[in-house]
Amino acid sequence: MTSPRAAGSTPDDRATIRRDEIAGRLAAVEQRIAAACREVGRDRSELTVVAVTKTYPASDIAVLAELGVRDVGEARHPEAGRKVEECAAAGLDQLSWHFVGAVQTNKAAAVASYASLVHSVDRRRLVRALDRGAERAERVLDCLVQVDLDLANNGAEHRRRSGAAPAAVDDVAEAIATAASLRLRGVMGIAPLDGDPTVAFAELAELAARVRAAYPGAEVLSAGMSADLEAAVAAGATHLRVGRAVLGERPALR
Ligand SMILES: *Cc1c(COP(=O)(O)O)cnc(C)c1O
Repeated sequence: MTSPRAAGSTPDDRATIRRDEIAGRLAAVEQRIAAACREVGRDRSELTVVAVTKTYPASDIAVLAELGVRDVGEARHPEAGRKVEECAAAGLDQLSWHFVGAVQTNKAAAVASYASLVHSVDRRRLVRALDRGAERAERVLDCLVQVDLDLANNGAEHRRRSGAAPAAVDDVAEAIATAASLRLRGVMGIAPLDGDPTVAFAELAELAARVRAAYPGAEVLSAGMSADLEAAVAAGATHLRVGRAVLGERPALR
């Protein structure tokens, strides 16, 4: 385009401001990760940062890709599916899409068609639905067992949002591992809002070790978000799911 550069807030200006904002936030997150790694003697190369882009536009994903972030996390279908299409249309073909939110069984086939790694598999019925979807899409889908780390409320069925109870993890893991079109890659957890993330992630790491012992390919430990990534690095996380710290505060969901 050859339109003259107008003074004030043109779309180009706004894009530049947004790019600078994301670059600055990403750099700050990298500093936090570096410090957390130093603290416990880990190497940054052991960690994958998944930028959780839910509620943010595909244009932000393009910025992230430019900045070298290829692992993108989404939490809802159809929002995720729409962005996968927008990014493909924009020529962004190097992205890995992580599905981190609760998957409704009737949306599993769609998610299975574009996700690289589903972090949130928590029940046998969902395993079957994802397996059918992956088979139909002629792909093998990597999956994590999401563990419910709300330890204080673990027995209380009514309070459970998502995640398999720790006692059910082996069962879900086995279902994934034996599904023809799925591959068990490890476990995922979300620290409870009102608890100590260090305690929750220690429990998660223990479960991860147990799953890894039974299934040697299951070496992923997805833990840690904007508020608690340091605790996750200390607990041995391999994947950090970082949204707000990279992209800014989201409008409240729901
Ligand atoms: C939104 C979300 C994140 C990112 O949370 P932030 O607090 O924005 O870093 C991580 N994991 C899951 C499952 C999410 O839904």
